[in-house]
Amino acid sequence: MQYISTRGTAPVLDFEATMLTGLARDGGLYLPDHVPPMKQSEIASLAGLSYEEQAFLIMRPFIGAAFTDAEFREIIARAYAGFGHPARAPLKQLAANHFLLELFHGPTLAFKDFAMQLIGQLFQAALKRSGQRVTIVGATSGDTGSAAIEAFRGLENVDVFILYPHGRVSDVQRRQMTTPSEANVHALAVDGDFDTCQALVKDMFNDFTFRDEVGLAGVNSINWARVLAQVVYYFSAAVSLGAPHRPVSFTVPTGNFGDIFAGYIARAMGLPIEKLVIATNQNDILHRALATGGYVTDGVKPSISPSMDIQVSSNFERALFDAYHRDGAAVAQLMDELKSGGGFQISQGALEFLRETFASGRASEDETMATITRTAQDTAEVLCPHSAVGVHVAETYLSATPMVTLATAHPAKFPDAVEQATGIRPPLPERMADLFDRPERVTRLPNDLAAIEAHIRENRTA
Ligand SMILES: *Cc1c(COP(=O)(O)O)cnc(C)c1O
Repeated sequence: MQYISTRGTAPVLDFEATMLTGLARDGGLYLPDHVPPMKQSEIASLAGLSYEEQAFLIMRPFIGAAFTDAEFREIIARAYAGFGHPARAPLKQLAANHFLLELFHGPTLAFKDFAMQLIGQLFQAALKRSGQRVTIVGATSGDTGSAAIEAFRGLENVDVFILYPHGRVSDVQRRQMTTPSEANVHALAVDGDFDTCQALVKDMFNDFTFRDEVGLAGVNSINWARVLAQVVYYFSAAVSLGAPHRPVSFTVPTGNFGDIFAGYIARAMGLPIEKLVIATNQNDILHRALATGGYVTDGVKPSISPSMDIQVSSNFERALFDAYHRDGAAVAQLMDELKSGGGFQISQGALEFLRETFASGRASEDETMATITRTAQDTAEVLCPHSAVGVHVAETYLSATPMVTLATAHPAKFPDAVEQATGIRPPLPERMADLFDRPERVTRLPNDLAAIEAHIRENRTA
């Protein structure tokens, strides 16, 4: 299988090169040249298999000849061994036809671990074979960075530099990034918001001299391998609710559009997903775009669901690429308009395509808090604020089709909001109870590309 860029002019790559590259050299995002369909009988036969075996069968067609079956099974086994739940992604029932998919049993307590743990093992296997060294640089609103650091800490041939917005991540998120002691881990606190960090990372990838000098690799949700890893739990959840014989809907708390785009791929592979609902917090650019056709940035408003405080939703470009019939030039033009003018208008045809696939809703801060309170009272489930945004929006779309809301983080990752809503401070799981006793290590840097590049050049170990 080959991978092509959403902007049409970057080299076509195989799976391994796509994974190691991250962002395409024309500024676009890589996508498979076709989505391999799964037969209904193949989907049905996933029922009852372990999460790892489902993951192997679902992802195998996308990786081509990069790894043998035995190697790939081994990689998957190592990726999910550190999860704190045998089902990996257990499904809980919230109401008559409403289910919660708990994606927070990984080592950093957010769904990002599903992709990042896998990517760490994939990188390790690929780099060991080639002897290549890479510098991973990523931007985070909190959870990606901690998941990346956890996945790559101490691995050979890799440095990991994570840019996070100074003062805008939770204490748990920050400590997960600043307390690992391995020399190949570098937490950078940048003066700015998440979009600042993300723009800096994009600019580094477009600085080809720097990119080639340090062997830049990206593990942000623009990395195709991350999207691919997330496709698996859409299948595991749907199959356990009766797919392919019964359709299922999903509601996804959304920021950078990576997680929900994985659902879009699952649907394209043949999983009967009726509705894919985008749930946003007060940073509702995606909800507005779907409602009006105008994708217009509006400044980030910090919220109690900080991992969704995003205006430039990178992976939306992948959906636009399909909505524009895979016309890379058209997508490149929209992205130019976004960069120069802060927004663009989605064409009528593309908007209709998007509306056939996605629905959307938003939750205000008050609605999010009320949902945490009410859900804790009515069920045994304590939601994190991101998951609560999802549950609030999902409740407006309940129907005869089972609805699965993705619970994207553990409540203990955002204890202040959860305590305020429920009166109870959610404790960290046993295995990370000493997080607040470990020493921190972090470098504060200005919003200045040259300064950050210089820091990376001087501090990498690989
Ligand atoms: C990253 C994140 C999201 C948003 O996911 P996207 O793939 O960026 O849409 C939602 N909730 C939590 C807890 C996250 O860490």
